[in-house]
Amino acid sequence: MEKAILNVLKKLENNGYESYVVGGYVRDMLLGKNSFDIDIATIAKPKEVRTLFSTFDVKLHEYGNVSFDIDKFKFDITTFRKDIKYKDNRKPEKIVYIDSFKDDLKRRDFTINAICLDSDNNIIDLYDGINDLKKKKIKAIGDPYKKMEEDALRILRAVRFATIFKFKLESDLKSAIIKNKDLLLNLSYERKREELNKIFSSKNKKYGIKLLKELELLDPLELKNIHYVNYTNDLIGMWAMITDKDYAFTKKEKDIIKMVKELLSLDINDILVEYKYGRYPISIVSDLKRLNKKKIMARYERLPIKDKTELEITAEEICTALGKAPDIFLKDILKDIEMKVLLGELENNKKILKDYIKTNY
Ligand code: ATP
Ligand code: MG
Repeated sequence: MEKAILNVLKKLENNGYESYVVGGYVRDMLLGKNSFDIDIATIAKPKEVRTLFSTFDVKLHEYGNVSFDIDKFKFDITTFRKDIKYKDNRKPEKIVYIDSFKDDLKRRDFTINAICLDSDNNIIDLYDGINDLKKKKIKAIGDPYKKMEEDALRILRAVRFATIFKFKLESDLKSAIIKNKDLLLNLSYERKREELNKIFSSKNKKYGIKLLKELELLDPLELKNIHYVNYTNDLIGMWAMITDKDYAFTKKEKDIIKMVKELLSLDINDILVEYKYGRYPISIVSDLKRLNKKKIMARYERLPIKDKTELEITAEEICTALGKAPDIFLKDILKDIEMKVLLGELENNKKILKDYIKTNY
């Protein structure tokens, strides 16, 4: 265990609070992977944790966990708890803090996420998580049907861990997922997108897609054309193809998605189309249409201008050249030279543009 993590654990313990590292860090360490998100379970109450670590920029969250950063490490400290009753198959309605570390482990999702490390580097593995890591298996803690029903996000977490580590899902867990799949409709698009992005950015995404199909999750996730996930590494480009729902997209993302959809029915080899839509949408669509992206992007980079603001002449200079006050006529002239420069009929050079305007207007 790294020094910074040990220091946090020792500080809690020296103040009389039983504490363990649990979850992702321990799991990843045993898999030989580095991780910097450190989850700690402790008997200390959130406010006590906040006081102990008050020299750091400590955040106290809605569900009572406390987080802060030390160097590259992000600590998330959670008081031993029992989740009472779940609301909308997602949020615990009420959290009760408890004294028993063993009981805290019961509420966790999968055996591989319930392996703990104490400050003497001892591993505590009450649910045989190490064995499941060896067997490459995702297995729920306790009754998988109840676990998936209580919190449908666990369905996607199961697929995410299986995908990233190339693990299998234990057979009862599979059945439990299929049985509860429609609960995914109750989850926020934001949370679903977070998990799906992790699945689709994995080098094992093909396997992830296979699992989503096998577990009959595409319909409840409102996903279609899922094969497009394999065509592009750009997540927004991918989302444009695989759903008609608003997966909590920002305004900027929605604009890109709209452009990508329009571009699909246009000729990307047309200079005017390239110019209108610009670098990013063009690169996404050349992936999606499986065109020669390198060639298309090289041609785009050779365009004489990428935007009308790159014209070497300003509206003011046009007025001076023509001895006229600014008016609506400017719009036509600017459009005319913009197109001629773009198509290579005029060089983007102040003097040449001025001469052209004087001769033609
Ligand atoms: P990573 O940080 O790599 O995404 P993680 O397993 O650490 O994976 P976190 O979201 O950081 O995931 O959660 C920390 C731990 O809290 C998990 O390992 C698990 O024990 C528990 N946990 C998280 N989310 C849930 C959930 N929805 N249901 C039950 N337990 C959960
Ligand atoms: Mg974590």
